[in-house]
Amino acid sequence: MQHFSSVDGVLHAEHVPLTDIAEQFGTPVYVYSKDALSANYAAYADACRAHGRAIGSKGGALVCYSVKSNSNLAVLNLLHRLGSGFDIVSGGELLRVLAAGGSPDKVIFSGVGKTVEEMRLALSHNILCFNLESIPELHRLNEVAAAMGKRAPVSLRVNPNVDAKTHPYISTGLKENKFGIAFEDALATYRIAAALPHIEVCGIDCHIGSQLLDDAPLLEALDKLIELIDTLAREGISIHHLDIGGGIGIPYEGGQSVAVGDYLARLFARIDAWRASTHQGKPIQVMFEPGRSISANAGLLLTRVQYLKHGSEKNFAIVDAAMNDLARPAMYEAWHEVLPVVEHQIAAETYDVVGPVCESGDWLARARQLAIAQDDLLAIMCAGAYGMTMASNYNTRGRAAEVMVDGVHVHVIREREIPSALFALESIPEYTR
Ligand SMILES: *Cc1c(COP(=O)(O)O)cnc(C)c1O
Repeated sequence: MQHFSSVDGVLHAEHVPLTDIAEQFGTPVYVYSKDALSANYAAYADACRAHGRAIGSKGGALVCYSVKSNSNLAVLNLLHRLGSGFDIVSGGELLRVLAAGGSPDKVIFSGVGKTVEEMRLALSHNILCFNLESIPELHRLNEVAAAMGKRAPVSLRVNPNVDAKTHPYISTGLKENKFGIAFEDALATYRIAAALPHIEVCGIDCHIGSQLLDDAPLLEALDKLIELIDTLAREGISIHHLDIGGGIGIPYEGGQSVAVGDYLARLFARIDAWRASTHQGKPIQVMFEPGRSISANAGLLLTRVQYLKHGSEKNFAIVDAAMNDLARPAMYEAWHEVLPVVEHQIAAETYDVVGPVCESGDWLARARQLAIAQDDLLAIMCAGAYGMTMASNYNTRGRAAEVMVDGVHVHVIREREIPSALFALESIPEYTR
């Protein structure tokens, strides 16, 4: 993790000491590295190009960054400038992509519950594709497109029933999940789609889960999609793009996750062999929807110790960040590395790192050996994905500021929320009795 490293005993983001950032912008603050985001995107784009697939071309590849993992406009704008498309799950995310300068013709719209208004908005901007997840959704989109005199480009999100062996809350490819169309029902659903006058079948999609450290389940899912594309071809339904979803994990607890380049090499090898044997070598566009593998290790949450509390059972480091800033530990028992920003020559003790929110679930890390004192800074590592985007205002806590580090420069990319803004939309009724 060379973008966040210790120099003379002080943890830096690129070339900026985190102590300076805390001083200037206060805590808690999310700190992102522009170089890390760029390198993580490049791992995908370079691997595509290395396998002869130009980004954005029809028979090539497209990386559609999953906006929900980190949707700050500066993050989206950076990825757009690098050539990325976007995978969105709401109308709000589409508006963000547009506000960040992103191109709607590189936007795909996922999610199980698209409303009529969201469909209209996306159609009016001529997005690249809707990833649909049910038959009623297909009929609704057909009607909305008809009323607008358009044909909606559609992929079906197929559920390949592959066990991603990840946390139940982030596994999405099994039969019991709410996501996708069951593999057995896919052919019948494609037939319905192909017969609808305002639907244009263009692709196939799956997303089997998140935080996959191994690509075996993804390659297993790929084999099922290939089987289905061949079946569809025999029925005269042609598929122009294959979207394998996101899901590559990061090693939060050290160790290894599969390298993006290795995964893509294996994936393209299978696709190339298949196209050569059954489709006269005709190319198919390959799409990816990575979120965490681009944004997670490009960000950390910087927080300051308020109090150290020593108990008979446990010691607590009470910090100024909380579950409302980073929900992953409370929500999934997620493990994030905690690093003191400044190294001290004091004895380490075992602490639970907790926030000030009035919930026992408000913890950020448990049983960590830390050499820390009151007022020290801690960095909660790998918090760039599903950190700020899941933040809330619980306990009327304003959401943290966000900064983007670029070499020796620090740019504020979101101001800290002030309390009055948190209740600005509320009102006290003038009761009539
Ligand atoms: C969340 C999500 C992703 C991104 O998942 P990561 O694990 O962050 O890569 C991709 N596609 C869909 C449909 C999603 O819901």
